[in-house]
Amino acid sequence: MNYKERLIKALKGEDVDKAPAVSVTQTAIVELMDIKNAEWPEAHSDPKLMAELAIAAHEFGNLEAVRYPYCLTVLAEALGCEVNMGTKNRQPSITDHPYKKGLDREDLPENLLESGRIPAVFEATNIIKEKVDESVPLIAGMEGPITLASDLCSVSKFMKWSIKKPEEFEKLLDFATEAAVKYANGLVENGADVICVADPVASPDLMNPKDFNERLKPRLTKFAEDVQSVTVLHVCGNVTPILDMMADCNFTALSIEEKVASVRDAKDVVGDRVSLVGNVSSPFSLLSGTPDKIKDDVTRALSEGIDVVAPGCGIAPNTPLENVKALVSGRDEYYQ
Ligand SMILES: [Zn+2]
Repeated sequence: MNYKERLIKALKGEDVDKAPAVSVTQTAIVELMDIKNAEWPEAHSDPKLMAELAIAAHEFGNLEAVRYPYCLTVLAEALGCEVNMGTKNRQPSITDHPYKKGLDREDLPENLLESGRIPAVFEATNIIKEKVDESVPLIAGMEGPITLASDLCSVSKFMKWSIKKPEEFEKLLDFATEAAVKYANGLVENGADVICVADPVASPDLMNPKDFNERLKPRLTKFAEDVQSVTVLHVCGNVTPILDMMADCNFTALSIEEKVASVRDAKDVVGDRVSLVGNVSSPFSLLSGTPDKIKDDVTRALSEGIDVVAPGCGIAPNTPLENVKALVSGRDEYYQ
């Protein structure tokens, strides 16, 4: 069973010889930028550097997939958001929003897939496919439709409109969902095997579970149904209150943080609707722990039934390479 077969099967909940060890979230770290001479912020825009840095996490970090790009701003920027590109160890962030006064259009821009850094991400996909063996899966990450909708108007407006301007809120969600589907399918057409959406704004930390169920879930479901590949939904924080609803969104798998304290309980909630990915703490183990601590986390997650060994959220840029490798060797040792 090669890396790609194993990952796709594990995500689909089918039998595998061992759980894959990958990251469905951000993989770039400063040590790899130095090894490859491919640094942020340039690697967010230059397809060659983007591809090199992504491959490095497989080549030197031993992760069993190539995961790219490194931010949640590509689609938002293509739709008119202003982005601060950050620094070598700080991710890009959105600094201004095109629809602060409301969405004044119905259709997506016709040239959406030619806008901003989207062509660069597509080109990076093609470079990665050329450079790595076809047995290595490509995981493309992107902002989810809920986070995208909030980026288009600002999180504070998004929250306010959810109560005071429900029509505006719904319109934005539909627009963002359509854009997210179009971009995701563009990534798939260029060769991405797995689409992982990170949708932090859908977290119960920000939106209440009732809203998730009635207003966000239908959009996430539409996304998962319309995207022509295996899909993973990552929502940050303790998603325990919405886990059951997340499992109904038709994604192939859910990526959960360590804030979901028991993988076993989470498995009981989701049953065979989705597989579970992640749960190894990015800030407390990968960034600041020792390899032994990471191996302990991996062992616990596997013994509780995690389907894919992975960081719980994006890997922090200052994470030691040694700790990324420990995620994979921890998995190997578990099966010895
Ligand atoms: Zn997260």
